[in-house]
Amino acid sequence: MQQLRQVLSQIDGKGYKAYKKLQGKCFYYPDFELKFYYVQGDPFAAPSQLAVRIPQKTAGFPRETYQPKTRAIALADYLSRIFYSYIGKISSGRRGSGKSGDFRLDRPGQEVLERSSVVVNEDFVEARIFAGMPAAGRRILGQEAAQMLLEELPELVKRSLLFANLSSNRLLNHVYTVEDQEALRKQLLPKDLIAFVADGSILPRRSGVDQKPLAPDKAVAFQAPPELAVELDRPHAGRVRGMGIPAGVTLIVGGGYHGKSTLLRALERGVYNHISGDGREGVVTHSTAFKIRAEDGRRVEKVNINPFINNLPFGQDTRSFSSEEASGSTSQAANIVEALEAGTQVLLMDEDTSATNFMIRDMRMQLLVAKDQEPITPFIDKVQQLYRELGVSSVVVIGGAGDYFDVADTVLMMEAYRPREVTAEAKEIACRYPNNRNPEGGDAFGELQDRVPQPESINPSKGRKVKIKARGEEELQFGHEEIDLHCLEQIVDPGQTRAIGELIFFALKEKHIDGKNSLKEIVDLLGSLLDKNGLEMASPNPKQPRGDYVRPRSLEIAAALNRLRTLAVKINKSGNIL
Ligand code: ADP
Ligand code: MG
Repeated sequence: MQQLRQVLSQIDGKGYKAYKKLQGKCFYYPDFELKFYYVQGDPFAAPSQLAVRIPQKTAGFPRETYQPKTRAIALADYLSRIFYSYIGKISSGRRGSGKSGDFRLDRPGQEVLERSSVVVNEDFVEARIFAGMPAAGRRILGQEAAQMLLEELPELVKRSLLFANLSSNRLLNHVYTVEDQEALRKQLLPKDLIAFVADGSILPRRSGVDQKPLAPDKAVAFQAPPELAVELDRPHAGRVRGMGIPAGVTLIVGGGYHGKSTLLRALERGVYNHISGDGREGVVTHSTAFKIRAEDGRRVEKVNINPFINNLPFGQDTRSFSSEEASGSTSQAANIVEALEAGTQVLLMDEDTSATNFMIRDMRMQLLVAKDQEPITPFIDKVQQLYRELGVSSVVVIGGAGDYFDVADTVLMMEAYRPREVTAEAKEIACRYPNNRNPEGGDAFGELQDRVPQPESINPSKGRKVKIKARGEEELQFGHEEIDLHCLEQIVDPGQTRAIGELIFFALKEKHIDGKNSLKEIVDLLGSLLDKNGLEMASPNPKQPRGDYVRPRSLEIAAALNRLRTLAVKINKSGNIL
């Protein structure tokens, strides 16, 4: 500490570059060490990266708070939240020009995610933070730096990273809530369910831009219909009753504004665990569930959309379909086929964000527009094949197309935010009023192909420098390219977007993208490497592990790569994945 104090007073008033002498240095405080992984070049540039490391002997976290791994993830998430909340309380914030004086950490949202901001293990607790080293203009403010690093930082560490100073009740509650959700998710498969929604869950959110739960006096709590009620076990909170959504084809029907999309959105996010008090701690979905929507304008590279689209005008090949600007229906078809290729077992779809002509072609339209004049085989004719042949379930929100009653295994009706099981009623109506459609799906779903990304087509550089940058959750700059991710609704944290960009770069650097491995093999390999090495693997410089990554699913990494406009793939002829 004394050394750091000396350095800061020496460089006080000097040019900003003098801060650089801190880079790579480590300073010893009574309770922890402070490392300067990276020091910024000027007050307006990206902030400096610091890490504080507290020996576990001092930090004092009992082993059961970070073992097994699920608990380590939950604990690290918890400590990130506490640390974040104390930054606002303890730090006096900006002082000087640009980012001067600011401690920064991304604000964790409603989901409990694997984050690189905090690492906890047997030996230590390490928190990685960003800090703007203070300056007036480009002149170093040594006093302010000392205040930040020698007064505020130790206080932050003391309040948020020492077990003795935390509420062990709240901490354990966070960890146990996560463990309970993991346990619920594990019970889905053996019970042939793809999702579970606990009684009492609060599904609606405060607003389109606020993921916090709607106030209890405004929200109708979820109550499972008796026909779909199941009980599952939680190791900590005990048995819980709720609605089990069986594998197969499930429709969510009901009048407009009755809560259909809200239920589907809760299922989309049910692939992640939620913080206690979120209202969705009892909503769990099969971990590979993937939201599918129309995404006109997206690029598509050599995807076999033949199961859904064939004989396009001018004889375009739909076994290896490419487009710089796909239509609503072709983009939705490509989204499905790519998700299957990447390993999804559950498709989630909402008519609000689907192409109508992709979903349905009714009898009258079949009579007017002959099959050989219509390239699209609608989803209604494929959805059962997907389940029977590939074991892929679907949950589809349908308010307008009763033709779907024929292909449903389960029909759920939302009535003023309350679900009712109406399968028998729907089947009876389907019997009494046949839709007289001609099924157009053919004998089988069709083949799926393995696509092999070509490394030359993926370039993270802009000029001579690698440029990978996330703008919020939805935009990823990758070299000269902007990857548009706004239709990937299951990316829930900008840290995931950032990690996706870096992981693609990593796969390229390490030659996992080698022109031989298929896209599926690449993202699976990244997944197992992340399991083994942790998220710091995403940091471009292993000596400077960054604290702003959040683990993405393999499905979203694949989806991002599929949206890179320069991507070229080869079809692996031997590699049919069916
Ligand atoms: P739909 O898709 O059936 O048209 P939405 O799911 O979009 O309906 O819901 C319509 C509105 O009702 C939204 O503003 C949503 O926040 C609200 N809402 C949804 N579920 C509930 C609920 N359980 N309690 C209170 N409000 C809800
Ligand atoms: Mg809706």
